[in-house]
Amino acid sequence: MTEHNTVIAGDITQPDILHCPPDIPIAHAAKLMRDKRTSSILVKENETIIGIWTESDCTKLNYDDPTLFQRQIHDFMSTPVISIPVSTPFADIIRAFHRHKVRHLVVLNENGSTKGVISQSDVIKRQGIQHYLQLRTVGESYDQQLATVDALASLTETAKLMKREKQSAVLVKNKDEDASGIITERDLLKVLASDEYEQPLWHYASKPLITIESSQALLSAYLKLQRYRIRHLAVTSPQGDVIGLLSMQNILADIEHSYFQRLEALISERDHALHASQEHLFLAEKIIESSVDAIMTTDRNGVIISVNPAFTQVTGYKAREAIGKNANLLNSGIHDKSFYRKMWKQIDTEGKWQGEVWNRRKNGDVYPEWLTIVKIGGDTVRDIHYTGIFSDITERKLYENRIKSLAFYDDLTKLPNRRLFNDRLNIAISTAHRNQQLAAILFVDLDRFKQINDTLGHSIGDEVLRSAAKRISSSIKEGDTVARFGGDEFVILLTEMSSVEDIESVISRIYQQFNKPFVLDNKENYVTCSIGASIYPFHGTEPEALLKYADIAMYQTKKDGRNGYLFYQQDMHASLDDKLVMQNKLRTALKNNEFKLAYQPQICSTTGKFIGVEALLRWELPNTGMVSPAKFIPICEELGIIVDIERWVLSQACRQRKAWLQQGLDVGRIAVNVSPIHFKNNLMNSVLAALEHADLSPVLLEIEVTESCFIENTRDAQIVLEQLKKLGVEIALDDFGTGYSSLSYLTKLAINTLKIDGSFIRKTPTNEADCQMVKTIINMAQSLSLNIIAEGVETDAQNAFLTDNGCTQHQGYFYSKPIFEDEFTSQYEAIMNDAKAKELTE
Ligand code: C2E
Ligand code: MG
Ligand code: MG
Repeated sequence: MTEHNTVIAGDITQPDILHCPPDIPIAHAAKLMRDKRTSSILVKENETIIGIWTESDCTKLNYDDPTLFQRQIHDFMSTPVISIPVSTPFADIIRAFHRHKVRHLVVLNENGSTKGVISQSDVIKRQGIQHYLQLRTVGESYDQQLATVDALASLTETAKLMKREKQSAVLVKNKDEDASGIITERDLLKVLASDEYEQPLWHYASKPLITIESSQALLSAYLKLQRYRIRHLAVTSPQGDVIGLLSMQNILADIEHSYFQRLEALISERDHALHASQEHLFLAEKIIESSVDAIMTTDRNGVIISVNPAFTQVTGYKAREAIGKNANLLNSGIHDKSFYRKMWKQIDTEGKWQGEVWNRRKNGDVYPEWLTIVKIGGDTVRDIHYTGIFSDITERKLYENRIKSLAFYDDLTKLPNRRLFNDRLNIAISTAHRNQQLAAILFVDLDRFKQINDTLGHSIGDEVLRSAAKRISSSIKEGDTVARFGGDEFVILLTEMSSVEDIESVISRIYQQFNKPFVLDNKENYVTCSIGASIYPFHGTEPEALLKYADIAMYQTKKDGRNGYLFYQQDMHASLDDKLVMQNKLRTALKNNEFKLAYQPQICSTTGKFIGVEALLRWELPNTGMVSPAKFIPICEELGIIVDIERWVLSQACRQRKAWLQQGLDVGRIAVNVSPIHFKNNLMNSVLAALEHADLSPVLLEIEVTESCFIENTRDAQIVLEQLKKLGVEIALDDFGTGYSSLSYLTKLAINTLKIDGSFIRKTPTNEADCQMVKTIINMAQSLSLNIIAEGVETDAQNAFLTDNGCTQHQGYFYSKPIFEDEFTSQYEAIMNDAKAKELTE
């Protein structure tokens, strides 16, 4: 049937059509038709078809009229003639037959001239009908309305009967001879063509009767008709009586009926599908057109075949400049061959690749983009296409770099800060381990710096710090690190040291630098420093321990009278085994009910109302008091007991939230912190268990994660976060700004909220660098449509600064310290009263 989707009228037209002028005698037309063996003739006047006369019209004639044979065809033809253009699709040809109830259609060329005629049989002949005819019997299709005439009847009588009974043939009975014959439309045409019509009917009848039994397959009848080149068979009962006639017309009607039904159904289905796919195509085109991401499609060889307007915006190439060129037109030359090899390998095996790529614009600029390449597979290799979707991430990179520089460098001295130092320390230790070398940490603290600050003022103090930073930096070799940890505290990381003497020579260089005077307020001043040092691997192998030991050694130097240096020694430190003791106590803390939760409100600064509450873990040791979570949580992580502890935290927090709900306290979500270890170990189970146990709705829970949860394995993290999101649990990214701060994952992961780390809030609004940092984070969160909340808000000024800059969710001592459950209700009421008062005054 699919073949018909492409067949048009021109393909099945019978070309050698018969035509005649309107004024020729009907007998003449009949002769032409008989000779040509066609069933129709077109009537033409001045090259225009004005009518059609067909075999079936023979039944309309009055054969008693002596002038009949001379009458012009014009008087009997059918008008108007139904015509269709050559390009008419197959389905529409069938519709035309149906609609106009005709057996012939005239086909017109594009210029209006006549190409030919299509009869219904031409349409049916397109079909493979053999199989169908085999399944049908004569009995199902023949015409049961058997019209019979006597052998002596007149032609006119017979024609009238045929017309009245709508029959194309009648049975003729010759009683005298006890025989039957048949008269058909075609026989009437023969009469007209023969010029003599005065014989009795029997003379014109076809005889003897050719019969077929009603139980026979329609196919046998069809073959018989073909064989005898006739159009009618007499149908007999099993007993041999003639019970009706079967014409080619009946067979066609039978086929037509079922065929049309089937075809109509198929055509309407196809039309529907076509319409839908056109609509989809239209939509897809619109989406591609209006996409803000650049979209480019190439063939399997990388030749560009289409681009959208955003492509031109990003790359500078117009569509006509890009289409036909290879996509490597955009290569920046920054990535090596192995980069592309790896990329294409993944596309071919997984069908997709995503990542950051540096490309080149038409004007030569190199820019970073976030690129997704999708392989669009076809049935054959030739059908394979690739689509590249990319966006310019220059701006995002700028944000990222800005945040990194603010997050990793000290603004006053431009030295690395503690975070960057820690990073480098970790790397240095593993390198030293591999190369069997020494590494050293020097803690350098300026002597009596507070005095300088107090007597000469802060700006002179800052000047001293800047100058000290330069002097220390000039004393070390390239590749080593000087960081400022805050105040007047500098920390140096020395790598590739082979002996203690090497380290001492750096120390002596630092002292030489400090021997030169500092010019302050136009006066020469001398500033000294105290140094403490620890050495990997002599004093320890862990970064924190080494830092602590260098710090202890520096204090010892100060105690010993300053302006000197000491290497760490064990006896400087009384309670080295602190950690061991703590470890032992922590193992039993959960069982001994030593953990408690404190709750800290999160408030909307414009309404004063609750947005949420953060649950913070507390460890209360008998006889010792509270231990800070910053201290004990890393140990729990090390011991592998953090998951159990946090499961307790989760259920406790959910239960508490449910209790407040029942008391009618509207405190928003309860936020719970999770460690990266828990995050990667079935967090979803813990969350589900806690929610179920407390019978709490997931929308009242928020999970606080840190960047370390997903730096190593973004894909797994993505799955966990998606599951939580599906459940309705919200995700906040804690301590934002202190970590890796790659913004590409922010758009990929299901994160709702960024929490700006308290360390950035502390010095707002006085410290310009921190203000910039906070503003940058707020802008970025807004551009990524993320919620933003500030931690550690302590003062009215900070509250105002943040609110003015678009961050209205605050958590900090300004509103409330973390409090235990017993104080919570009264704190809640106080906060809500303030909110009400605020509402009234505004
Ligand atoms: P965090 O999640 O960033 O929590 C905020 C910390 O800032 C809390 O310290 C809170 O007491 C403190 N804070 C809040 N407002 C202010 C303020 O205005 N000024 C100052 N200076 N500090 C403020 P806390 O309770 O000592 O907790 C420290 C960290 O311990 C938390 O930082 C969190 O990372 C971690 N932590 C607490 N509970 C859990 C827990 O159940 N699981 C895990 N994995 N970590 C936890
Ligand atoms: Mg937190
Ligand atoms: Mg935090």
